[in-house]
Amino acid sequence: CTRYDAVSDACWSKEAPAPYLHLAWAFELLCSTTKRLTKADVLVNTFRSLIALAPSDLLPAVYLSSNKLSSSFQGIDINVGGSTVSAAVVQATGTSSEKLKQLYIELGDLGDVAQALRVRQRMLVPPSPLSIRGVYRTIVDMANMKGQGCEGRKRAMMVRLIRSCRGPEARFLVRTLVQNLRTGATLTSVLSALAMAAVMHHTGKEGGRDKSDGEGKETGKREATMGKDGGEGEGGRRRKSLELRLKEAQVAVKECYNSCPDIPRIVQALIEGGVEAMQAACSVAVGTPVKPMLAKICSGIPEMMEKYGSQPFTSEYKYDGQRAQIHLLGDRTIKIFNRHIEDMTDKYPDVAQLMRDLQEALRAPSLPPSSSASASPSPSPCLLKDVILDTELVAVDRAEGNRLLAFQTLATRGRKDVSAEGVRVQVCVFAFDLLFLNGLSYVKEPLSSRRARLYSLFGPLLERGEGGREGGFEGRFAFAAHTETNDPEKVQEFFTEALEAGCEGIMCKSLPHEYEPSKRTDSWLKVKRDYVEGLHDTLDLVPIGAWWGNGRKAGWFSPILLACFNPETDELQSLCRCMSGLTDAVYTELTAFYQEEGRLLENPKSYVRTGETCAVWFEPCQVWEIRGAELTLSPVHKAGVGIVDTQRGFSLRFPRFLKKRSDKGVEDATTAGQIAELFRMQVRRVDVDGDDKDGG
Ligand code: ATP
Repeated sequence: CTRYDAVSDACWSKEAPAPYLHLAWAFELLCSTTKRLTKADVLVNTFRSLIALAPSDLLPAVYLSSNKLSSSFQGIDINVGGSTVSAAVVQATGTSSEKLKQLYIELGDLGDVAQALRVRQRMLVPPSPLSIRGVYRTIVDMANMKGQGCEGRKRAMMVRLIRSCRGPEARFLVRTLVQNLRTGATLTSVLSALAMAAVMHHTGKEGGRDKSDGEGKETGKREATMGKDGGEGEGGRRRKSLELRLKEAQVAVKECYNSCPDIPRIVQALIEGGVEAMQAACSVAVGTPVKPMLAKICSGIPEMMEKYGSQPFTSEYKYDGQRAQIHLLGDRTIKIFNRHIEDMTDKYPDVAQLMRDLQEALRAPSLPPSSSASASPSPSPCLLKDVILDTELVAVDRAEGNRLLAFQTLATRGRKDVSAEGVRVQVCVFAFDLLFLNGLSYVKEPLSSRRARLYSLFGPLLERGEGGREGGFEGRFAFAAHTETNDPEKVQEFFTEALEAGCEGIMCKSLPHEYEPSKRTDSWLKVKRDYVEGLHDTLDLVPIGAWWGNGRKAGWFSPILLACFNPETDELQSLCRCMSGLTDAVYTELTAFYQEEGRLLENPKSYVRTGETCAVWFEPCQVWEIRGAELTLSPVHKAGVGIVDTQRGFSLRFPRFLKKRSDKGVEDATTAGQIAELFRMQVRRVDVDGDDKDGG
């Protein structure tokens, strides 16, 4: 009751900017429950009120509720350090750094600390209220700020915002700034609530008219079922019909987002015309990334054969590079997106040039000059106007016949604003799917047709071995090597061949299936050397630090930085980040355990050695049993540094949590020497371990 009274403080009149307090109270309600349906109700009601009263505040509200500033491919990140936010809290609330630290140890969350300090503060003149659009705009301005002195300016802006906070605003404003909102809402749940709010809004506008009247069979079916419990009147039918539409809206918004993850476009369409308008506006479009289809893990060829049975499938090399969705727009603009639909066009000017070369080479031969002397030659038509290709970019060694190199080499390329001349690691684009061509979407077509179209477009060009700069497209553009056989022995042979060529394994794909954006189903199965072989032993490692998780893992520590023990130097040396194998219960338990007083540290212990910068550091006190796939060398991790390389330590790929070893102390952890021994036992050695495949 008190809460809802307080919510009424956040009321505002139509057309006025919606107060941030409205959102902050909604966040407070989200935090007060663990019930998924109650959380959904809170979000739906918040968005309904915004659609009705302040539709132009809906987009900023959606962003702030999902702790984002833009769609992923637009790449606006909050980008302020935790220490800058802490300094702003100190200044805005007139406290001392010591007091803030002490409160942080007590409360474990900077937002809660800011809230506690703000509540105790007395203001002589009440600050002007914050609006949703104002908060969002200020944070975006901060994100876009660059150059000298920008940290100071950002701090001043944060101070102004914090000083204007009322009710629970300080808690959520600060949590937004440190990108850890902790309301349990994810982008998926936010969009789902938004779609439901839009359905309710548009149903209301129709004056409660039951749209299902024309649904024929469906309505009939429901009436038959309802009849059993004494019959349903008009009101009951309406309610059922609305429930059905709400469910459909949730599915529809997910599908639209997967095919067209453009948040402003989805919000706008939902406000203007509801679900049907969104479906019409948000389909696959060149220039907007499609959420990539993913593959399920498969333990080996026997399991894969069992899954596919007699259905036709194809096997492709699983290249060890970076996923790249390449868009060529009608105006020759090129966009390249990674697996997380982030724009990485700046990183690959050579790939952009390749696309232009391909387009040029696909120009039909020009017609013989017209007999009329006055007629000017018309430009020859191009077979490639616009396209979306799904590909893997792989580093190749041009001097050695375009030999495939490991992902770790690709990871050494610059990340942003790379100039064509500055490219040192050459790449080959291995195309394995076609999603869009010359105005037509292919995602609903079976893989067999998509592949046939891909081959018919580029195949003749590659066969002729002509076109492009540097003498043809060899080593720059190719189709992913594939075979089509259901014979397990032949698949096994192909798998071995893929490994020998430097690939990670094979991808087996069902031929009759459509492209399913963002889905990880049995339509694509990956068989990797790592799963088939793996390391011969498990390791006992010490958690030394962590980052805050996102999505499902928001509010928990994830990933966790793990270290081995080096008795020679008496150091704990980092070996890997671990985020797999941990159940929700384990995450909850370990987050609570380390948040207890004294176990969270501002800085790592002096005997911890790593190149990583964690969000939080742990008092080293546990040992975990970990299974991993492969050891590589890394400039970031420092396990056994100096044993085989003076700068690089060992790094464990695909670490998986097995269990806590409460029978072991920190000094009983696997030693750097034991890890060196395992490294030597490995058949394949990789040169340098860069960072995460997708740059995230
Ligand atoms: P992994 O670490 O195995 O790459 P992931 O979670 O990043 O896993 P998955 O969908 O599980 O991604 O595995 C498929 C990935 O393999 C793709 O994202 C892509 O980058 C890469 N890949 C390499 N060759 C192919 C191919 N022929 N077809 C599809 N994906 C391929």
